[in-house]
Amino acid sequence: METAPTSIPPRPRAALVFGVANDHSLAWFIARALAAEGVRVGLSYGDERLERRVRPLAESIDSPLVIRCDVSNEAALAETFAAADTALGPRLDMLVHSVAFATREDLTSPFSETSRNGFGRALDVSAYSLLALVRHAGPRLGPGSSVLTLTYLGAERVVSGYKVMGPAKAALESCVRGLAEELGPRGVRVNAVSAGPVRTLAAAGVPGFRTLLDGHAERAPLRRNVTGEEVAAAACFLLSDRASAVTGEILHVDGGYNILGV
Ligand code: NAP
Repeated sequence: METAPTSIPPRPRAALVFGVANDHSLAWFIARALAAEGVRVGLSYGDERLERRVRPLAESIDSPLVIRCDVSNEAALAETFAAADTALGPRLDMLVHSVAFATREDLTSPFSETSRNGFGRALDVSAYSLLALVRHAGPRLGPGSSVLTLTYLGAERVVSGYKVMGPAKAALESCVRGLAEELGPRGVRVNAVSAGPVRTLAAAGVPGFRTLLDGHAERAPLRRNVTGEEVAAAACFLLSDRASAVTGEILHVDGGYNILGV
């Protein structure tokens, strides 16, 4: 008697997304889009006051993990990845870093008056944390895994009001290239989306954000602002096998704003 060929169902892909504060967060748009593609998505948030906002979002996408993690705290990172092992399994197909921080004082003072501590904190939370996430993820990232972070034009050009976040994002973009070179031989890709301005909690902390948003819509080649969904679509592309030959890339999703000169 012939037996039917057995086929092993494909393992659902697993993603861990850092930086969900609320339903406006770019991390949330990305998490929701990944979940819609059948990815099992674990969510991490930074501040305990946000839990009541994040839990219902997690439930709406059947997220198997919702965990608070301060990305500047090594013990919290270790706990988060241990929890991910239980909730998502031992392999991470996708790791999303959507985290940034600068003190209000440093965002409102003249750039040259950025405090030494504030500069260090902004670079630690906004840039170094990408290295920390990858280090803690360790062998959970294997051939075909993909890491993604979010950056902004202020890394490359002077954007008035972006202050210390400019050097923080420049460092982040440099980390993307360094990690892409290091992890490439393991088959792990590392990329960034450089998003145009989108109204979120973090964006609200940038002085003059409203003016930035209006100016962008007026001058960008597409003559409009970008949406969270559009940022997420590009992020999902970079995270997916469709971008299997893309690494170390900073993909601008900004309606073309970055190409403009005078
Ligand atoms: P958001 O919703 O406020 O997300 C920023 C996230 O960073 C929050 O969830 C915040 O959590 C988290 N965070 C800050 N410090 C943290 C820490 N120590 N540990 C863990 N998490 C921490 O704003 P967003 O605009 O979506 O920002 C996401 C990323 O996109 C950032 O890297 C931002 O620079 C980038 N980006 C945004 C825009 C834009 O216009 N919105 C454009 C380009 C790039 P807590 O609030 O709980 O601390």
